Amino acid sequence: MTEEKCELCGEFSALKKSHLMPKSIYKAIARTFQPHDSAPVWASRSQKSAYYSNSQITKRLLCGACEDRFNKNGEKYVVGKCMKNAQTFELKRLLNCSSPSIHVNGSSYFDPKDIPKLNSEKFIYFAASIVWRVTVTDWGNDDISNLENALPNEFKRPLQQYLLNKAEFPKNIYITVCVDDDVDPVPIMSLPSGDIENDMHLSFFIPGIKFNVFLGANADLELSSTLSSLGINMIYMYRSFRESYEYQQMKHLVNSELSPKGKLAKQSGSS
Ligand SMILES: [Zn+2]
Repeated sequence: MTEEKCELCGEFSALKKSHLMPKSIYKAIARTFQPHDSAPVWASRSQKSAYYSNSQITKRLLCGACEDRFNKNGEKYVVGKCMKNAQTFELKRLLNCSSPSIHVNGSSYFDPKDIPKLNSEKFIYFAASIVWRVTVTDWGNDDISNLENALPNEFKRPLQQYLLNKAEFPKNIYITVCVDDDVDPVPIMSLPSGDIENDMHLSFFIPGIKFNVFLGANADLELSSTLSSLGINMIYMYRSFRESYEYQQMKHLVNSELSPKGKLAKQSGSS
């Protein structure tokens, strides 16, 4: 078997087919949300269409040891805490029985210390691994092509060292974890999006949870100064996903710009 260089650790070995977004999330969506037998709806801006698909974005990127590292340091734990259905959502349950200690401009936020039963380090690792993998290579997908090589070196190398467990998480990267508190929550998974060059910000959804990652203190001065004064890099908060800008944008995209294809087109009666 051909040996290639692992993008993360640099060792040569038979590389695995790595996923951009964890395979376990697709499984969770397909299994637990209605209709049970179907694939998730895939909405693509670049293809201007929406359709049922199990197609996943993959690339031979990491060696077995690094795949394992990603899985056990973040993915497995975080996916276990995301929304499985309206009743089963472990992260939200943990927030519901904790009290937020951060109050800024009338809003309340949870310090990781407010939720002692939650392993927040795994949430940080997971968010870091998604930001690193989406920016480190060409995934062959037009929806995320603007992110290829977009991470400045001042963040790229420290993130890589952190993901290899050789360094602490970079002090100048800040993460907010938003938990959907709508009564009738919508399962959303999105590819990472954002304008790193101008906003130094990336975000992505997994069911029930939105991650925002801010690169550098200037990306959001109020957030970075609040978090720095507390000596933390991440906070949790409740948000209505239905009211969020991203959800409204997605709804607009699906309703107006995308054409339903295949089975989805038949169901929506527009084929
Ligand atoms: Zn490796």
